[in-house]
Amino acid sequence: MVPLFPVGGGNPNTHSAFAIPHFKRGDILTDNLIRKTAQAISRSRKVVAFTGAGISVESGIPDFRGAGGLWEKFDPAEYATIEAFLANPQKVWAMLKEMGDLLESSRPNAAHRSLARLEEMGHLRSVITQNIDHLHQEAGNKRVIEYHGSHKNLICIQCGRRYPKEEVKFESLPPRCACSGVLKPTVVFFGEPIPWGAHLQAVEEARNCEVMLVIGTSAVVSPACDIPVLAKKAGAAIVEINLEETALTGSVSDWILKGPAGRIMQAVMDRMTGAE
Ligand code: NAD
Repeated sequence: MVPLFPVGGGNPNTHSAFAIPHFKRGDILTDNLIRKTAQAISRSRKVVAFTGAGISVESGIPDFRGAGGLWEKFDPAEYATIEAFLANPQKVWAMLKEMGDLLESSRPNAAHRSLARLEEMGHLRSVITQNIDHLHQEAGNKRVIEYHGSHKNLICIQCGRRYPKEEVKFESLPPRCACSGVLKPTVVFFGEPIPWGAHLQAVEEARNCEVMLVIGTSAVVSPACDIPVLAKKAGAAIVEINLEETALTGSVSDWILKGPAGRIMQAVMDRMTGAE
């Protein structure tokens, strides 16, 4: 089973999407890890970022653990399975429409922009993202592997015709194809397979990177959570950036930088570019 939305992974109320804790610059341990991360990136031209919902929280898009917002109104377990979509597309589209409006109004934050800059500088090879929000591309990254698809396109579940989202009228829900079939966003719901091309590319990138930045993911969604493990087995250094420890911490990851992704990535960039 391949989920759009994660299952398990701890207390959903451990942090709020809108109460991002302070990240303490000046703390010796944190500063050492920032220096170590900046050095690892600077020395490599084969860095890959593996990102999850947490990287977009500072852009105003809640992850599934953040209190409040969209996911209190729409329980992912009830709205995010392909079975639920097929059984009642109108009901699921009420959630998709609200989520789509939120995604359209969101902008990349410092973490997305830092990854775009690292690609421009020749250090970052690619971003493998579990997010469907398109914010990496908006920030300027060119090589983005959308492991769980994208909200930017729709596909007819009857004839398979694809539409860019801006060409679709949402006057009534669910939106429909010219053939009258129901349209679905090209995102991966629970119960749907990972797009094969994205999976193959992600595996290839993981096997060939020297440093993997694992940013804002609880790493509980399968098979995406295997990507850092593959990179580790191939000899990459695994650097986690997250508000809290995850299933990877201390086993798969070599170190973790704890704090909001935007502020941490900005600190790493400042270190690399001599801005601090
Ligand atoms: P998740 O909700 O399971 O976990 C989010 C992780 O990010 C947690 O470990 C949390 O501690 C961390 N986090 C939260 N705020 C952070 C911040 N400011 N800085 C750093 N880390 C922070 O998310 P996941 O692991 O990506 O789960 C995967 C599924 O969630 C994906 O399949 C994706 O489709 C879906 N999702 C996507 C979006 C999006 O596109 N923006 C939003 C919500 C959910």
